[in-house]
Amino acid sequence: MSIQFADIGIDENVDLSESNTNLRIDVLRLDKIHPVISGNKWFKLNKYLLKAKILDKKTVLTFGGAYSNHIIATAAACQLYGFKSIGIIRGEEPSLLSHTLQLAVGYGMQLKFISRDAYKTKSIEQEMRQDGSILIIPEGGYGFDGANGFTDIFKLVDLTEYTHICCAIGTGTMMAGTIKATTTLQEIIGIPVLKNFIGVNEAVNALLTKEEQAKKITYLHQYHFGGYANHNPSLIEFMNRFYTKNKIPTDFVYTGKLFFAIHDLVEKNYFSQGSKVLVIHSGGLQGNLSLPKEMLIY
Ligand SMILES: *Cc1c(COP(=O)(O)O)cnc(C)c1O
Repeated sequence: MSIQFADIGIDENVDLSESNTNLRIDVLRLDKIHPVISGNKWFKLNKYLLKAKILDKKTVLTFGGAYSNHIIATAAACQLYGFKSIGIIRGEEPSLLSHTLQLAVGYGMQLKFISRDAYKTKSIEQEMRQDGSILIIPEGGYGFDGANGFTDIFKLVDLTEYTHICCAIGTGTMMAGTIKATTTLQEIIGIPVLKNFIGVNEAVNALLTKEEQAKKITYLHQYHFGGYANHNPSLIEFMNRFYTKNKIPTDFVYTGKLFFAIHDLVEKNYFSQGSKVLVIHSGGLQGNLSLPKEMLIY
């Protein structure tokens, strides 16, 4: 079983600064893979679904919020590969489903809403946990299979020329997968989009070997804009400006914050002259549907 990678391309020399520095910034456009299931989720799911197939599972169950990119990607991938899917959704069932959940249902996913407290411990019915025909994928695809699935991207993309590789962090799975693909000479920069994600180091390290943990890994915690899915006018304005300049759309939950951070680092001369930076655009554009219509110009 393999997933068709539609259009994995790199945009070279993206303009992220007004000053004329001797710096090259490229963008890995995972957002272009598919209009809805864009980005890293597809890759993170791949190994889990392979496992489901090998173990002859009929159903895949996973967890997420009402705007979760992971939920929608799981629903779509399951439909494509012939699994039933169940989404355990955080919070009360709303009278009107979010765009994300509507799409997930459209892909055949069965939704079960659980209270925020029950969600915290991922408590689901005992029968479901013990049902041998169900494969359970952790929230966000977090785990070895998720990280290794993401690492596979770099069989298709040559990282060797880059001095820095940067990505957004939710669970840290993509960060771990990226670290696995890099050498000890490259710096990997992660931008957590959650507020005070103090456990990020542990979460990522848990998916790495000792050698991998010793690579040049940097976490920058000052770009979360108040926390997960929070935004303010300066973020939105930046995203619009970035789009005008580079014709690259970003999402307000992950990649908008990531590119804002990289722009800020460039302005502060974080990257030395001659650096070659690869920024991973991990997709997530469907999340922008939850913003008021006129907010973004794209
Ligand atoms: C889920 C997601 C992330 C975070 O990935 P993790 O592996 O959970 O850290 C980043 N960007 C986008 C667009 C996502 O949907």
